[in-house]
Amino acid sequence: MTTKFVVEGLPPLEPIKEISIGEIIYQSLLTHTDNTPAFVDGKTGIVITYPQLLSRTCSLAEALRNTGYGPHSTILVSSKNHVRFFVPVVAALYIGAKVTTMNPNYTPTELTHVMNISQPNIVFCSEDVVHKYADLKRKMNFIEKIIAIDTTKSSVEAESLNDFIRENIRSMVSTISTTVVNTREHVAFILYSSGTTGLPKGVMLTHRNINAKFLIWKDPRLFIEKNRTLCVLPFFHAYGLLTTLTALRANSLTVFLNEFEPEVYMQALQDYKVTRLYLAPSFLLFLAKSPLVLQYDLSSVNEAICGAAPLKKSTEDEFKRRFNVDISQAYGLTESTLAVTINGKTRSKPGSSGKVTPYSRLAIRDLETGKFLGPNNAGEICIKSEMVMKGYCRNPEATKNTFNEDGWLLTGDAGYYDEDGDLFVTDRLKELIKYKGFQVAPAEIEAILLTHDEIIECGVVGMPDERAGEVPLAFVVKLEQSQLTERDIQKFVEEKLSNQKWLRGGVVFVKRIPKNPTGKILRRNLRLMMKQYQSKL
Ligand code: AMP
Repeated sequence: MTTKFVVEGLPPLEPIKEISIGEIIYQSLLTHTDNTPAFVDGKTGIVITYPQLLSRTCSLAEALRNTGYGPHSTILVSSKNHVRFFVPVVAALYIGAKVTTMNPNYTPTELTHVMNISQPNIVFCSEDVVHKYADLKRKMNFIEKIIAIDTTKSSVEAESLNDFIRENIRSMVSTISTTVVNTREHVAFILYSSGTTGLPKGVMLTHRNINAKFLIWKDPRLFIEKNRTLCVLPFFHAYGLLTTLTALRANSLTVFLNEFEPEVYMQALQDYKVTRLYLAPSFLLFLAKSPLVLQYDLSSVNEAICGAAPLKKSTEDEFKRRFNVDISQAYGLTESTLAVTINGKTRSKPGSSGKVTPYSRLAIRDLETGKFLGPNNAGEICIKSEMVMKGYCRNPEATKNTFNEDGWLLTGDAGYYDEDGDLFVTDRLKELIKYKGFQVAPAEIEAILLTHDEIIECGVVGMPDERAGEVPLAFVVKLEQSQLTERDIQKFVEEKLSNQKWLRGGVVFVKRIPKNPTGKILRRNLRLMMKQYQSKL
């Protein structure tokens, strides 16, 4: 299993085909001719069936083609969870366009940064955020069109999805010839991650990356292929997006919610006899501890997959006692099309993030020597995989720094594998903060803080928090005469950044921020300061 300190993944059951994911999904949808739902809104009961999805996606793809969009285009989808969210996603994949997704709650500052990375030509969004994109369209000449997916009324700023289709095709169609792409090179998705350092970057995932993901999720050694999922994760987030896409490929049912309301969630879980749960540790805590959970029949659940952040063994045990289901912990990054290790059906040890998936290899790098280490020695987790990204969009420098000279992706996470090849993630070496599974880049908050006239220096760090995983805490050096309070600074950030980036951990005023001679923040020292501060709380 372990040769020369490289852990090989499970042997693949089949080769990765040179076929676009648009074609794979199209073929899957074609086989599903009965009127079963693809998506159900778990709160309102609104449904889109598989045949409806096929017809809407084919018709939209034709309309897009007829208006000049194709493999050279980038399509943005930015909406809360909705039955039509995946219509533009899948239509774009049919015509070989790149898909990027963004949090509709992003502030204009955040949107400007990520829009300039992916430069989408057409925006599909929910009606409530049309005005935000219309403002950006006036400044960004790459945006040509805005289409609202959740309304039948077109406006001056945005056409409705239905009007756009109606105006650009002769009649609705349920067949299409999908665009052939070079699967190794052609980008299917641009998603965002700050990587090991700095501001969010655009992770380019190719059709081959996603193909490999599809094959892993249909591997009977790891998963039960046919499932019913309850998704409260946002579809715009890599985790919600890619897991739901795999559900579509498998012709499964996805019940979704827009926000987490405990009663609604539990009712949907029971009513739709959900079999698979996708979880993040903060959410698992609720299922493991809340008395409300005990009032519902949860016997349908037979798979619980948890990723995105470290999970405490005690929470895992409590969950198991309640649901009588093992948790499949998974480990991965946006840069590796998510999970590259998973416990799956071949359960491994509690506390472990499981074994390396097919099409992947893993090694542990000594932080000082850079040499690969053997079992039970902790160091930086490194990955080679068919799922590892092509690179960061319009950022060759960051791409170069993320791989070592032999092409291993340096994850910025610490861990070890044991003699059976089971991975244990022990620490995060990189700057990244994870709030309820959402990425928060300290550099982004620091950049905002430094725009304040009375702040001279600052450093942001993640403070451990039982419910959220981590919360951002800022150390701030203010002008001597400044009267700024903690709350003033928190409000300043709240006006400029979206919810997950708010300084919930608080603000600590200090005399200086630990930095090296070139002015780079010494993150390790900052973390020590955080620990000292936390111990006094
Ligand atoms: P993202 O790119 O948003 O999926 O975040 C990836 C990061 O989440 C990883 O680099 C880890 O720091 C963290 N992460 C993901 N899975 C796990 C896990 N099973 N245990 C600990 N940390 C994890």
